[in-house]
Amino acid sequence: MNTQKDKHIIHMDQDAFFVSVEIKKNPRLIGKPVIIGGGSDRGVVASCSYEARKFGIHSAMPARTAKLLCPQAIFVKGNMDEYSKASHDITEIIAQRVPLFEKASIDEHYIDMTGMDKFFGCMKFASELRQTIIKESGLPISFGLSVNKTVAKIATNESKPAGEKEVIFSEVQPFLNPLSIHKIPGIGHSTYKKLSEMGVRQIQTLTQIPQELMFKILGQHGLSLWQKANGIDLAPVVPYRERKSIGTQATFESDTMDIAKLKAIITGMVTGLTFQLRNQCKLTACITVTIRYTNFETVTRQERIPYTSLDSFLIKRAHDLFDKLYAKRMLLRLIGVKLSHLVSGYEQIGLYDICEEEYSLYQAMDKVRNHYGDEAVVKACIVTQPPRDQYNKVIKYNPRKKKIITETGEGAEKEQTGDYKRSRMRNFMNEKGITGGKSYD
Ligand SMILES: [Mg+2]
Repeated sequence: MNTQKDKHIIHMDQDAFFVSVEIKKNPRLIGKPVIIGGGSDRGVVASCSYEARKFGIHSAMPARTAKLLCPQAIFVKGNMDEYSKASHDITEIIAQRVPLFEKASIDEHYIDMTGMDKFFGCMKFASELRQTIIKESGLPISFGLSVNKTVAKIATNESKPAGEKEVIFSEVQPFLNPLSIHKIPGIGHSTYKKLSEMGVRQIQTLTQIPQELMFKILGQHGLSLWQKANGIDLAPVVPYRERKSIGTQATFESDTMDIAKLKAIITGMVTGLTFQLRNQCKLTACITVTIRYTNFETVTRQERIPYTSLDSFLIKRAHDLFDKLYAKRMLLRLIGVKLSHLVSGYEQIGLYDICEEEYSLYQAMDKVRNHYGDEAVVKACIVTQPPRDQYNKVIKYNPRKKKIITETGEGAEKEQTGDYKRSRMRNFMNEKGITGGKSYD
């Protein structure tokens, strides 16, 4: 814990971010129970105001439950474009003032002030930065300042709304001890239940459990929780770079200009990437499509988009980009899709025209893929007709090998069974260790 002693980490988090953006547009919403999303009866709550939370409403709750709890609640459809823009603006303000920061979710940033504390008082600096953000963005924000990311984040949450809280090294344990284990970032419902059944509800109780026992019960996650309860978190602030991305590309066995087939391939690629995004609780704010003509001329086009991880939305954008890109009537040899500007989060559900069922469908598909591999469930449009022999009988094949897997350039294992070579998920998750922000408070 000694290494943490001289660290100074700020966690900044917008208060009820989506709601605040709406209030800025329409001040009549101030002080009212406001719910973002859940437009249709089958929708879900994307975010809600502190007034609505008093009725027990929370994000991801079915809209009809929210309506029962608080019939007078005001439902606002929500606009991810505007929230994304506000998010980029806030990141800009921070980027101009600090050298090392991490964008952890659409409305959260970590700033590493270590070393700068000799020149500025960290608390004074953070407080001034908070005021600047409030003034320039017109949106409320809170922050916590402590020796690591976990304690800083808990401090922020304790100070909300419109709060500031510093927890110095010697106060870390006294600050954490009386809190519910619920307050530890990353503790899920099932973990909470397990610990709760053991009589562990307070952080102090958790600190008294032997590490080995925590490992036995919850594995690595248990150890990590134990450390957090003890105020230990060595995760670094990962610098925010625009190039945080995941991508995939395919080189075709034989060059093609079959538009329907190309679009089906794009659909397949986007589906694979969004599956990964959702698995890692990430959203993307930028999509890039690349094509290479048969003469090796390569063209790329990208588009900033509202933060999302939804298939239907991204597939449409990717197809549109492809239409704009593919200008020459020439054969193509390669196609690629990349999702970048990744941040943690998954709560835009309810802001698009997506209902509970569609969201459940994504969840169910992700579950199957997690069990049986990422090609276990695919959209029907990307499945090509199975090959038939001269008697018109289907030639049996292994569906997992049907899509060919070849890494362009790296020439690893080549399986030539399908219409195109697909890069083995040329996925470059360029970043790690981002703490999952589960709710945008
Ligand atoms: Mg927030």
